Amino acid sequence: MAGEAITTNNEDVQNEWGQICSQLKQEVGEKAFDSWLKPLSISSFSSGVMNISVPTRFMRNWVITNYSDRIHKIWGKKNPNIKSINFIVQAADEGIMTGVHNSTCRSLLKKISQSPAPQNIYQSGVNNIQPEAGYVSDANQSLSVPLNPQYTFENFVVGKTNEFAYAAARKVAESDDIPFNPLFLYSGVGLGKTHLMHAIAWRIKQRNPNKNIVYLSAEKFMYKFVRALRYKDTAAFKEQFRSVDVLMVDDVQFMGGKDTTQEEFFYTFNSLIEEGRQIIISADKSPSDLEGIETRLRSRLGCGLVADIHPTDFDLRIGILQAKAKQLNCELPQKVAEFLAQKITSNIRELEGALRRIIAHTQLLPGKEITLENTQDVLKDMLRSYDRRTTIDEIQKKVAEHFNISVKEMQSSRRARTVARPRQIAMYLAKLLTLRSLPEIGRKFDRDHTTVMHAVRKVEELIKEDTSVAESVEVLRRSLEA
Ligand code: ADP
Ligand code: MG
Repeated sequence: MAGEAITTNNEDVQNEWGQICSQLKQEVGEKAFDSWLKPLSISSFSSGVMNISVPTRFMRNWVITNYSDRIHKIWGKKNPNIKSINFIVQAADEGIMTGVHNSTCRSLLKKISQSPAPQNIYQSGVNNIQPEAGYVSDANQSLSVPLNPQYTFENFVVGKTNEFAYAAARKVAESDDIPFNPLFLYSGVGLGKTHLMHAIAWRIKQRNPNKNIVYLSAEKFMYKFVRALRYKDTAAFKEQFRSVDVLMVDDVQFMGGKDTTQEEFFYTFNSLIEEGRQIIISADKSPSDLEGIETRLRSRLGCGLVADIHPTDFDLRIGILQAKAKQLNCELPQKVAEFLAQKITSNIRELEGALRRIIAHTQLLPGKEITLENTQDVLKDMLRSYDRRTTIDEIQKKVAEHFNISVKEMQSSRRARTVARPRQIAMYLAKLLTLRSLPEIGRKFDRDHTTVMHAVRKVEELIKEDTSVAESVEVLRRSLEA
């Protein structure tokens, strides 16, 4: 997305930025680098003004306070043409649209999101919840991989974090023309990219059974291509793609570093786009962040619509749990749903896995209902492994660092807002991310359990009212869970 806007010395400036990043990484350490500097990217450079995009307002303030002088200094030395550096917040819905006319695109997407949403519930049967089961074969067997019948739009629960990607996917699946090409979906693992791609394929098939849709992973593409090379059969390989109407390639990050495959993919990609065929790509990063992928391919990948799926939020996790429980005809008490949605935040795959385990467990013992106790019991190991991922000490350290206070101050009796607020946030995160009890958490802060309880409630309120608190908590949670 960023590459196109740079008007001069595109490559130079990108290279310099790469070098600056490596230097900063050494100076500030990997953790701070990953939290604060890695998410930055060059947005544009012209007439001596460098614009760097930052994902959130909170991060922008942090970067300006802590790193901008240093960035300025290093860069000024490398490139005297740079007169000033601005850090700009690239709001999600601006950042993710490129190569298309934004206002047109927004209104199109708005239209879809206003059209009646499908019922986002699973239809029936225990098997539905096991994605591996019940694959059906696809028409184009030699090239395409079978589609999962459960991965449909109807089974996709829509929330704030995935509504844009969902709307874009429906637009591609339901348009008679090609609204944007390629559609590039990206997110961390287990957040629904593959599900959405299959859903697009099912919908297109439904609307137009004659369309030749090919869905495959980048790995499969590479495997097929390498085989064709070995058997000196690349002409036949190319021929296979000629009749494709819709090509979907999942997880293209795996092409990183494989130069000949990339070249072939680039060729296939370009010729299909030229012939007006729809391409849909997924990856774990945005096109500009893909490592080991040639610049021209990266910029090609980003020239349609780029839509990301954000990590889930609490409401979506609850929605997904309820939908899946309903589909399984299973009574899931609200308390249990909340417990799971609070504890299992990494991705939807793990959330599903946990639910599946509890259901399987209770179904084995007739008359047994799902309760908070048996949920905690069944998931003990799973939750403990979550718990092991982060400790209260680590939380205190991270939060103190984040707010520029010391851990000692955090544990002290000082009540000034600058210390008390970070302390409350640390307590809140300790409750959220570990399995420690309130008294145990309290001891770590030299407080009793009622103080912790109060802190947790307070932060819950603040998250709703104060975006800067919400952002801090979110940034900290992510970096602690990383
Ligand atoms: P990714 O390809 O991003 O790694 P998947 O598409 O494989 O993720 O999703 C992982 C699991 O979570 C799948 O079983 C999928 O059906 C489920 N899933 C993901 N997003 C949703 C959603 N919004 N609603 C319902 N299920 C979802
Ligand atoms: Mg996937």
